[in-house]
Amino acid sequence: MKFAMIGAGAMGLRYGILLQEAGNDVTFIDTWQPHIDKIREQGGVYQMRDHKDRHLVHIKLETPESYDGDPDMLIFFTKQMQLADYLKRCSHFFNDKQYAFTCMNGMGHIEKLQQYFADDKIIGGTALIATVLPGPGEVDFMGKRGAGKMNMCPLNEKPDEMTHRLFDELQKAGMNPTLTDDFTGTLMTKVIFNSVINTICTMFELPMGEFGNFPGAYEMSRQLIDEAYDICARADIHLVSTRKEEMAALDRNTRIDMPLHYPSMYQDMIKDRPTEVDYINGYIAQLGRKYHYEAKTHLFVTQAVHLAEFHRQNLAKQRANQAELSAPQAQTA
Ligand code: NAD
Repeated sequence: MKFAMIGAGAMGLRYGILLQEAGNDVTFIDTWQPHIDKIREQGGVYQMRDHKDRHLVHIKLETPESYDGDPDMLIFFTKQMQLADYLKRCSHFFNDKQYAFTCMNGMGHIEKLQQYFADDKIIGGTALIATVLPGPGEVDFMGKRGAGKMNMCPLNEKPDEMTHRLFDELQKAGMNPTLTDDFTGTLMTKVIFNSVINTICTMFELPMGEFGNFPGAYEMSRQLIDEAYDICARADIHLVSTRKEEMAALDRNTRIDMPLHYPSMYQDMIKDRPTEVDYINGYIAQLGRKYHYEAKTHLFVTQAVHLAEFHRQNLAKQRANQAELSAPQAQTA
């Protein structure tokens, strides 16, 4: 199958490299210049697994402007706030036969994809697969081969031949896909999951196991879960797990499956990049308002993450001022 990976960051590289190894024709499309320059200079991307086995993988890399191929499937792995710009810049090679697939976190991306693709060509999903981009031209796949898993569902909830072909390729690539039958329920269940772990671990800069082992973790998680589930009940969204199952999944994921891992939102925070919190907790709170439910805890933690971002920006400014003051002054004659 012919794939174009829109966004060659951590997840775009993970899906794309594994699909390429499974025998597919994959082209990566990106806009981050230092990353593009490094990949071109190296002749590919350095890939690791759990910080080990660093080796070069050759990839085809283009920018939105330089690519003129006709892929069967476009896989979108940008951050939520980057998607509109990517779509606009890539739109010259879109056509009505192509499918758009994504496992991005948060909510807001599907409406943007709908501006360019018909509903029967959009496949959404969620990924419990951790990947880190340590720097330009380098990617680290966390967890053993085949350790993660993912859900996928067509927007119209009617899997067609292309959905099954994608499913087969993802299975060959070791992504452990499950085909689900409720689009919004599948995506929202992951948004709620992220609204606890990503958000709390990011604002306190904690590895997931430290939160999972904190005696107050159950109470903090339960409050966020209860608000989100109350809102979904009002919005008639059928989540794919019960509150109890979601609490058990959070506990297992933090304490047992990935205790040493930092969530992807944390990776943005420590690189002083904006986080996706507005598309996760912010989205839940916004949905609540639509149904006259004030999700006070989600509103509070959204602002708490923004406060942590604000604090880091101020620290970066202070460091820059300090460096300027201590730099040797130019000598005047
Ligand atoms: P990413 O930040 O690694 O890459 C997304 C885009 O940002 C790419 O175009 C990349 O080149 C660019 N980029 C990366 N670092 C940059 C920097 N320092 N400055 C400027 N641009 C930079 O994003 P990702 O982790 O691949 O996430 C894509 C989507 O998948 C998001 O919605 C995310 O929440 C979701 N997701 C991520 C993971 C994970 O473990 N990384 C897991 C599940 C879902």
